[in-house]
Amino acid sequence: MKKTYIAPNIERNSAGNMNKYGAKSVVRHQDSIEGVLISNLVKEYGSPLIVLSEAQMRKRYRRLHDVMQMHYPKVEIAWSYKTNYLGAVCSIFHQEGARAEVVSRMEYEMARRLGIEGKDIIFNGPGKSPEALRIAIEESALIHIDHLDELYLIEKLAKELDLVPQVAIRVNMDTGIVPQWSRFGFNYENGEAYRTVQRLLSGKAMKLRGLHTHIGTFILDANPYYWAAKALLDLAQKIEQDHGIVLDYIDLGGGFASQNTLHSQYTPGEFASPSFDQYATAIGNAFNESSYVSKSLPTLVLETGRALVDEAGAIISSVLGKKNLPTGERAIILDAGVNTTITAWWYKLKVTPTRSFPGAYQNTIFYGPLCMNIDVIRPAVPFPDLHFGDIVLISPTGAYNNTQWMQFIEYRPKILLITETGQVELIRESETLADIIGRERIPEHLSKI
Ligand SMILES: *Cc1c(COP(=O)(O)O)cnc(C)c1O
Repeated sequence: MKKTYIAPNIERNSAGNMNKYGAKSVVRHQDSIEGVLISNLVKEYGSPLIVLSEAQMRKRYRRLHDVMQMHYPKVEIAWSYKTNYLGAVCSIFHQEGARAEVVSRMEYEMARRLGIEGKDIIFNGPGKSPEALRIAIEESALIHIDHLDELYLIEKLAKELDLVPQVAIRVNMDTGIVPQWSRFGFNYENGEAYRTVQRLLSGKAMKLRGLHTHIGTFILDANPYYWAAKALLDLAQKIEQDHGIVLDYIDLGGGFASQNTLHSQYTPGEFASPSFDQYATAIGNAFNESSYVSKSLPTLVLETGRALVDEAGAIISSVLGKKNLPTGERAIILDAGVNTTITAWWYKLKVTPTRSFPGAYQNTIFYGPLCMNIDVIRPAVPFPDLHFGDIVLISPTGAYNNTQWMQFIEYRPKILLITETGQVELIRESETLADIIGRERIPEHLSKI
């Protein structure tokens, strides 16, 4: 019998190169998540699969809360819905004691559905609709004002409803971060923030409860938080001196980096990202230096999203095929792409085989299943050979992927939660055609083809 011809092919063996840290690019395999065998998950639930760890979320929340409390006793965390608004995920953080931090009517309604009362909802967001503001005022949510038109609108609604809205002012400032995030709220340095406070107070329509800033995201230096805290505390002091108003809270927003590694970063995230303790020290220093704090003891609010949930998430994905690219790199086609894992555009995600592979490494690019050249889960890394049906783990992916995911070409997969006791819970069913077309209408004249 004649054998099928396979063209000869030379592969460059890229194993054995040491990085700056003297570590070899050895790809270790991982066959389980939180003690649950990955192969069993795929057998039972299929592929791809999004998996979240309850224990990781609770651990990181408690760690952040405890570490911050060592520096300043009055700390509250508000869960940033847009980071991951799966009901199960939000409920875990609410059980831990988090308030809800929402930025739209949709997120507001999500928090209310989970039983969070208006008074425990922080309503941020640069574009709140009049309807959303009306509900937030009626339910005494904490509304963080972004711009003057919003302030005027809240005044108007307050009169109409004969209620006193509970508000804070969003402030932006130079904390040394480039590019400076100046689109949210009112500027500190040019006096706009203080003038807005004066305008707000002269309107006598609402109660100023706090000050807020969100200086950026994935901030790889703890110092900007020192400057941010200092600026808000100085502003609070001025408000007290000039108007006799003592604020309840200072909200420093989110932005702590997870352990992921940005594409632009050479140093791996585990080494480059500040620890919770470094962020907490920077903030604690500003609070403990402030005479305003020693008199008034405002609550410190953090809206940490990414750093609490990124490491709690991973995607299990299967190899659909492979090919050799003209560049000499190997391409692996996975069944999960940037549709499920959009943070692949920002991070060098870790791709981990789920069984050991002997043999040579070759530079390998991981593509997803989408018809987009930019559907890359991971640009070239030295990797052992994989075959059809092999399973890999992509991580960390817990932050911003279940909210920014795209319903493009593919159905979205199942999401599993591994509970603290190692049980597997299905927390979101995979989509079917009915989910995709359920809200469509086909006009009568197009109903026959
Ligand atoms: C997105 C956002 C957060 C959470 O930011 P992370 O970088 O995920 O910690 C917090 N507060 C506000 C106002 C936000 O927009």
